[in-house]
Amino acid sequence: MPRPVQGYASALAIHRDIENVLIPRDRIAERVRELGAHIARDLQVDLAREIASGAEQRVVLIPVLTGAMVFVADLIREIPLKLSIEVVGVSSYPGKSVESKGVSIRHELPRALRGTHVLIVDDILDSGQTLDVVTRLVREQAPASVRTCVLLRKPGKARVPFVPDYVGFDIPDEFVVGYGLDYDGYYRNYPQIATLKPEAR
Ligand code: 5GP
Ligand code: MG
Repeated sequence: MPRPVQGYASALAIHRDIENVLIPRDRIAERVRELGAHIARDLQVDLAREIASGAEQRVVLIPVLTGAMVFVADLIREIPLKLSIEVVGVSSYPGKSVESKGVSIRHELPRALRGTHVLIVDDILDSGQTLDVVTRLVREQAPASVRTCVLLRKPGKARVPFVPDYVGFDIPDEFVVGYGLDYDGYYRNYPQIATLKPEAR
């Protein structure tokens, strides 16, 4: 737990708004290391196969902004492979909403994914719409492989039955913030996954 700093910019201190920490930072770090190792192993298998066939080898990681930025920053440092990063911007919880209102792409998808190994990274799988849309658009470009990785998954709410390849944690159906996840643009810098006090929403 980050300690509240005595006498520190009180009104803006994040910890005041946090209700409950669901996943502490050391658990997140441990799980991100495991995910990175798992992903790297799986990609190596594909790449080894391609060496045999002489095909071009490229790994492209596509983080779904803005929620995935903290997760992806840690995850890439656990994947010891040459890769490039091409962001996509998607908005599904506009403004102060805590409920998804359909998906809109706000930042064009990367081009030139043909023949590449793509890993799409998002912060959380809720209705499944975001990853469903992004994955479809990526597949249209005929990449060699497409994998998806989410830090968090909420249970049983999937409007579209989307099964990610890698999941960090299954969490209860509660609105969470921290480690990249926001409420109205705030709390992304809180280093753990937590719920907000009702009065903060
Ligand atoms: P889906 O399209 O799967 O319904 O929603 C995924 C997106 O909704 C995530 O990328 C995330 O931005 C947002 N989201 C879903 N659940 C939560 C939550 O509990 N907290 C926050 N901050 N965002 C969420
Ligand atoms: Mg998001």
